[in-house]
Parts: sequence; C-alpha cells; structure tokens
Amino acid sequence: MTVRTRIAPSPTGDPHVGTAYIALFNLCFARAHGGQFILRIEDTDRERSTAESEQMILDSLCWLGLDWDEGPDVGGPHGPYRQSERGDIYAEYARKLLDSGHAFKCYRTSEELDELRESRKAAGQHMALKPADLALPAEEQARREAEGWPYVVRMHVPSEGTCVVEDMLRGTIEVEWAQVDAQILLKSDGMPTYHLANVVDDHLMGITHVLRGEEWINSAPKHQLLYEYFGWPMPTLCHMPLLRNPDKSKLSKRKNPTSINYYRRMGFLPQAVTNYLGRMGWSMPDEREKFSLDEMMAHFDVHRVSLGGPVFDLEKLTWLNGVYIREDLDDTALLQALRDWAFNEDYVRQILPQVRPRVDTLSQVMPLAGHFFSGLPAINEASFSSVKMERDELVKILQFLVWRLEGVTRWDKESLLAEVKLLGEHFELKMKAFLAPVFIAITGSATSTSVMDAMAILGSDMTRARLRHAIEVLGGVSKKQAKRLEKEFREL
Ligand code: GLU
Repeated sequence: MTVRTRIAPSPTGDPHVGTAYIALFNLCFARAHGGQFILRIEDTDRERSTAESEQMILDSLCWLGLDWDEGPDVGGPHGPYRQSERGDIYAEYARKLLDSGHAFKCYRTSEELDELRESRKAAGQHMALKPADLALPAEEQARREAEGWPYVVRMHVPSEGTCVVEDMLRGTIEVEWAQVDAQILLKSDGMPTYHLANVVDDHLMGITHVLRGEEWINSAPKHQLLYEYFGWPMPTLCHMPLLRNPDKSKLSKRKNPTSINYYRRMGFLPQAVTNYLGRMGWSMPDEREKFSLDEMMAHFDVHRVSLGGPVFDLEKLTWLNGVYIREDLDDTALLQALRDWAFNEDYVRQILPQVRPRVDTLSQVMPLAGHFFSGLPAINEASFSSVKMERDELVKILQFLVWRLEGVTRWDKESLLAEVKLLGEHFELKMKAFLAPVFIAITGSATSTSVMDAMAILGSDMTRARLRHAIEVLGGVSKKQAKRLEKEFREL
C-alpha cells in the first residue's frame, strides 16, 4: 500500500499556522513511509471561500517548504483538487445513498427545525435531530415533493448505541449515537457539506491516513458511517492536538497572530517557523530543538506526538529564529533573506508613492518610512501625549478598531476607510481626530506617511498586532473593562 496523506484547507481567511502545522505532519508522515502528500481545497462554502485566500494558503505552504505531490496548481491523476469543481461527483454519490436508503430527502423548513429544536430543549432531550424527528407524515412529504419544495439530503444515523472509532494516537474513541444528528450531506442548493465531500474525496483520491486537528473528532462517527454505507475501507484516523496560546486556550487570533502572513511580514525565516511547528507536540529522538525539514522527515514517527496541548509561544519561536540567523546564514544568505523579506522591488514599489511627496532628500526616506520595514514600533504611553484623549478613550478606540478589522475579508484601503468612518461616527469624532491614536500605533510617531495606506500595505495581521501592542503599552484592557467594551461593541 502506498501511503497517501493530504491537507484539506478551506480558503476562508488568512493562511493559518494551524493549517501549516497539520500540513507539516501529513507531509512528514507520507515521506517517512515513502508515500505522497496531496493538497485539496475544500471550498464548498461558496460565500466564505475566496480565490485570494486559496492563493495565500498555497503561497504560505510553499514558503515554508511544505511541497505537495498533487494539488490544484500542479494537477495529478485524481483531480480536480478543488471541491467546487467536483459538484457532479458529490451529486452522484448522494444519489447512491438515497437509492440504497442510507440517506433521505428532508423537506423541513427552517422554522420547523427551530421549533423541533426548541421543543427538544424544553423537554430536556438531546439536541441532535434524528431521522425520526425529521420525518413528515407520508402525504405531507409527497405534497412537498410534488410542489417542488426545496430540500436537503440527510444521512440516516442510528438512534442508540455507541459508535467506536479508532484513532492512531488516541486509541478507541467512543461516541453515543444519540448525540449524532442526521447530518446534512447535500444542501438545498445542491452543494455538498464538508462531511460528504470530504469522505468521497478521501476515498477517490486514495487517501490512506488522515491526520487532522482534534476539532474534527466529533465528525469521525459520521464519516465512519458514510464509509460503511458506501462499502469503502476507511483511512486510518489520527487527530492531532490543537495548538494553544501560552495561557492554554485554543490558539486564536484574538490573543496571538495566527496568520503565516504575519510571521513572514515580521521577518521570521521559513525554516525556523517550520522547525518550530515540528516542535509542537513532537520531538526528535535526541530531543534537539533545532532540526531541518529533511531531518524531521527522516526521523518522523507519529507515535512521538504527545497529546498534551502544544503551546505556540512567540518568544520561543523568536529565539529559535535568532539561532537560525546567527548560525545558518552567512552574508550571502542573510542578504538573500532580507531581499525575500522586504528589500525587494515588489514591496519597495508599494512604498514609493508614500514617500515621494514627503521627502527632499533620499536620506529622509528611512526615517519617514522605517515603519514599513519593522515589526512592533518602540512606543510607550508618552508616545500618545500629543493626542488629547483620556487613556480609556484611546484604548477603546484602538480596541474597537481591532475588533472591526477582524471581520474585514477584503483587505484594501476602501474597506479600511469604511471601517474607520463607521467608528469615527460612533465616537462622534472627525476622521483626523479618530485616526490620531491609530496613526501613532501603526507608524510609531505622530508624523509619517498616510496611516490608511500604511495599514493597507502592512496587511491585516501586522496592523492588528500593532494596534494590540499599542493597547498593551497603554496599560491593556482589564477583564471587567473588556466585558463593558464588548457589550458596547456588539450594539454598534
Ligand atoms: N476543510 C477542513 C479544514 O478546513 C478539513 C478537515 C479535515 O482534514 O478533514 O480543516
């Protein structure tokens, strides 16, 4: 048997470090067994998936050196590798499940579903909706069918008993069937859900081992049942521990930058990031901290993964990155790293329109535009002294902006202006006054290039990291204050 693993990201946002982490382990597992590693794009959520996000995921994984053998860009014998191009395949398999009686058409309206859930809640029953709960009287079902009502295709699930799933790392996992609902497989627009598309594709693409985050454990019973219904062998499952913040909460962009773009922009070296991700819950047989991707692949043994939540610690990553710069990069390599990072034509060209109108000599460029070539600015509370606002007000403005920016999917000047305008109106401040503290947080000084352009060029993660940094130097937000702010923010 040839081992085949895959990474199956959904292109719905920034390229996440968690995706790179899972990709790394799938790649190492495949290589350690002389197998193949596949990249599949799971873009069935048409509203949230974007081509830009897909491109960023591909670029980030490439940057980290996590190369795939088959994928939407390189092709391969099992394509297409983008789920949005495989609609006919899923329809065919949904039809097979309907024909074999393992799935059913559900004509329930969303109001009826809400009612069903409410009544189950009131009766203190499990929230899972079972086929029997959803069934309509035969004549009503026939009427809705004849009148062409919209429907979804759902899978049958047992109402009682225990589902037993095997996991390479966790051993036997047991889930009560009572908790598993009659999962939707095909939505009313004919698009598949994650569950159907994922199982069908893993089978058709010959995937033998599925290494994925532990957040997918709850999906395993449904998947196992689908494999049974289709009569297919199931890949071996392995649910990896989730990355955590130093306070042990799930790694989230609210506390730590989670986008690979941020680490790239911050000037981390790809080999150091990949090495650090390899240390997440895994160690080399000799426990050394620094190792290359090739070394990791050569020594990889999935049973060395420990399940205690690995902590993604920015300080440790920064230390390791420094070791790489000092030990591995000679002058030529360091020069190349600087070029790859920011001293290249593509990036510098974006900055030219910002500096041209504002300098008389070239030597003024760096002092003016240095913030385009740095990480978090060296600011403190006194840096904000030119802004005539109370500390609480400053923090509130910066915090509200961070929260609004978390929801921005199209990162360009226009969208950013819309956010700033909206908040300016909320605070009853003119644009200039609202932007004053933002300016300092982003550029590190009270006079510099345009702050709106700077945010657009720096990208969402660096922008948010700088705003969060400014909040910290202003004393941070206490838990109590955060609650109050969140409430006001929600009412916006
Ligand atoms: N599309 C899923 C994700 O975004 C894939 C989960 C899996 O690996 O099964 O992570």
